[in-house]
Amino acid sequence: MTPSSYPSRLLESAVNEFSKLPGIGKKTALRLVLHLLKQEKDMVFKFADTLHNMRQEIMYCKSCHNISDSETCNICADQNRDHGLICVVESIRDVMAIESTQQFAGIYHVLGGVISPMDGIGPDDLTIGPLEDKVKSGDVKELIFALSTTMEGDTTNFYLYKKFEKHHIKTTTIARGVSIGDELEYTDEVTLGRSLVNRLPFENTL
Ligand SMILES: [Zn+2]
Repeated sequence: MTPSSYPSRLLESAVNEFSKLPGIGKKTALRLVLHLLKQEKDMVFKFADTLHNMRQEIMYCKSCHNISDSETCNICADQNRDHGLICVVESIRDVMAIESTQQFAGIYHVLGGVISPMDGIGPDDLTIGPLEDKVKSGDVKELIFALSTTMEGDTTNFYLYKKFEKHHIKTTTIARGVSIGDELEYTDEVTLGRSLVNRLPFENTL
């Protein structure tokens, strides 16, 4: 579709915004925009407000870096959870997947990605420093590595293992064969839950 085929610049600009979303081409964007145009104004304003508020007000937990509505997320604030047991994950989606298994009573640490020299992502680009501070505080008994089973995930696991070896805490990893990260949605809750319960000492996987 050429820009000149739009009857309105307002419409065109809305289509352009929607087509910035992943997986949304110009045709789909136009369909979504025309759908919104047919709705009651109040519904569309609420839709826009919701996005605006989410972007404006959402926070990241100062302890685990999970998405939160307050400085400390609900998981970190829960005193019934084991704060000495930390599951290290790449992203917020992994926290959501593991929470859905209802098999984990510890807390999380969201790294914000994995070490990937090809993409220019080094340890300093992730939240490894804050994780080290937590470990140094002496309250951590065990770190569970639940990163993706890619080369980058393995590199990150090994980096973390070496980094925390000197602190004499237990380091474990979820059972191999369970891919998390981008493939997480294909891993069923039972399998993921079981792999957490049956986690292995990290050194056994070397
Ligand atoms: Zn938190």
